[in-house]
Amino acid sequence: MAIGRIIGGQSLGEQEENFNVSLRPKFLDECVGQPNLREKLAIAMAAARQRKEPLEHILFYGPPGLGKTTLANVVANEMGARIRCSSGPALVKAGDVMGLLSNINTGDVLFIDEIHRLSTPVEEFIYPAMEDFKVDFTVDSGMHAKTINFPLKRFTLIGATTRAGLLSAPLRSRFGMLYHLDFYSAEELTTILSRSADLLDLQCEEGTLERIAACSRGTPRVANRLLKRVRDYAQVKGTGMLSGQIVENALKMEQIDPLGLDELDRAVLRALANIYEGGPAGIEAIAATLGEERDTLEDVVEPYLLQIGFLRRTKRGREITKQACDHLGLKLHKKKSKKSDQPELFEQGEQ
Ligand code: ADP
Repeated sequence: MAIGRIIGGQSLGEQEENFNVSLRPKFLDECVGQPNLREKLAIAMAAARQRKEPLEHILFYGPPGLGKTTLANVVANEMGARIRCSSGPALVKAGDVMGLLSNINTGDVLFIDEIHRLSTPVEEFIYPAMEDFKVDFTVDSGMHAKTINFPLKRFTLIGATTRAGLLSAPLRSRFGMLYHLDFYSAEELTTILSRSADLLDLQCEEGTLERIAACSRGTPRVANRLLKRVRDYAQVKGTGMLSGQIVENALKMEQIDPLGLDELDRAVLRALANIYEGGPAGIEAIAATLGEERDTLEDVVEPYLLQIGFLRRTKRGREITKQACDHLGLKLHKKKSKKSDQPELFEQGEQ
């Protein structure tokens, strides 16, 4: 059975969605971190407001849970615009997009999550909408087919993706602003947690939020989700107050280690070390070994393991690093090399 994961959008229950909605910053000055991005966004919005023009199209890209959807909503709020949300896989036919675009007003934001998963016909349908604010829509088929040129109001398309590399060049080039979201520092996550704790009316002992932040994989969604788990634990097993001991127990129950690695991270690293002798191993092979989706490993697990230097990506596949083996107490069986002068694993220089 696949190991459950806390970060993917699908794993959020309705309750968690509600929880997130209330914790989601609404305006730019409530957002924490990403200082460069926030500054560029603030300037672009101020300029557009001064010119009384809609904002140019924006692409936010980066690992899940870092705030792409949040920023799209923030942009709409700051611009005093309405936002309509959809996602790449939900827009199957040109007609699906037409339904959204025909109801759009000047300055409205159209947010498309997972924009790298748009089908080619939908993508091609969107090009003239983004560039010239018009679409060519075909009604009927066969002999009766007619193409109607439909003018649109000037809107702002905000796309979000975990895989900017999968976006076609023509689509990417139609965004005026492309912003990469980075992992957050422990200090930034502590600030986010402290805001969330205030909103949830939680009392916390000194140092507890720092401890949760340190286990949050640089990701606000993980930080808020862990806070919620600890809150539950504190409510049932304690007085409701977040004490050091309560936090430790709750994190242990969640199987989160001091670096924030969870069962799925550890399973990937263990598979690499024990089954693939440290690698290199292809992502498909690792996914098949664990019974996980390749996309989950690429989107959710890999970015953080790469960031902390536990994983190496080479042309031949993924390799575990010595740091990861030391952290998990894993021992690698040295590879039998065909050529005796071939260096053994970990005696090679880091790539
Ligand atoms: P993504 O769309 O990148 O997957 P979200 O925008 O859904 O991520 O963010 C996940 C959660 O993290 C949000 O619900 C919000 O509570 C929190 N969050 C994200 N970015 C920030 C931020 N800059 N400051 C405070 N909280 C944030």
